[in-house]
Amino acid sequence: KPSISPLKNLNSTINSYALAKDKEIETLQENATFRKEFIADISHELKTPIFAASGYIHTLLDGAVEDEAVRYKFLERAAKSLNALDNLVGDLLTLNRMENRVVKFHLETFDLKDLILEVIEQLENKAEKRDVTVRFYFDKAKKYHITADKDKIFRVCQNLISNAIKYNNEGGEVNVDLKAEKKKVHLSVKDNGKGIPEEDVKRIFERFYRVDKSRSREGGGTGLGLAIAKHILEGHNSKIKVESVLGKGSTFSFSLPEAKS
Ligand code: ADP
Repeated sequence: KPSISPLKNLNSTINSYALAKDKEIETLQENATFRKEFIADISHELKTPIFAASGYIHTLLDGAVEDEAVRYKFLERAAKSLNALDNLVGDLLTLNRMENRVVKFHLETFDLKDLILEVIEQLENKAEKRDVTVRFYFDKAKKYHITADKDKIFRVCQNLISNAIKYNNEGGEVNVDLKAEKKKVHLSVKDNGKGIPEEDVKRIFERFYRVDKSRSREGGGTGLGLAIAKHILEGHNSKIKVESVLGKGSTFSFSLPEAKS
């Protein structure tokens, strides 16, 4: 027995070393695939606004510039495409920094109710244009204090409420509900819009995943909003929940610990 034991040990050491190496290679391969797919996605997404802006500018150069009305319209559209490109690059940088965990969170204590009032005010025009009514329910007597990165939580709320407006029907409703219960502050954003097909629900937090591509781009979407929102909430040890019924609407919600004020 003593004579075979060292060999057995050596064998099992070699085996576990080989297994670890296999795992390492697998991870490297996965990373390489991820990177390749990411670059392919980015290139495709960047091409769309560049192609559009370039098309308008070339048409102007080919003679359309002589017509005053066309000139203005085409310049306006080229500017809109460049704006979309700018938003896309900004979102890509943010997402990349989040995925590499180089983003710092600046924590402060504030009332989530005030932040939401600001978000709703900022989105008023957008809602009006689509004839969508946004209602905000909260208890005036209550405080909704949380300790979090205010700018980043602003971004999450802006994304959720803006999506609820964007993916709603003309004349639709958005109900924003804020509650403080069991030492937590809960926010839910409910719309009665088009809803999300069941098979797509778990994928909408992936970068560039869109259920309806044309609608997303028309509304100025980059397809990165929910991916960024998910990272932000994960950075606060929280996550976004979603419930959706096709044709009826969706509810997005999250909770954060209530801060002692
Ligand atoms: P974007 O709105 O820029 O496309 P997001 O990451 O914010 O990107 O959303 C990803 C996708 O999830 C959207 O393209 C849309 O298809 C779907 N989605 C998000 N919010 C809603 C909603 N409230 N109702 C229906 N679909 C939604």
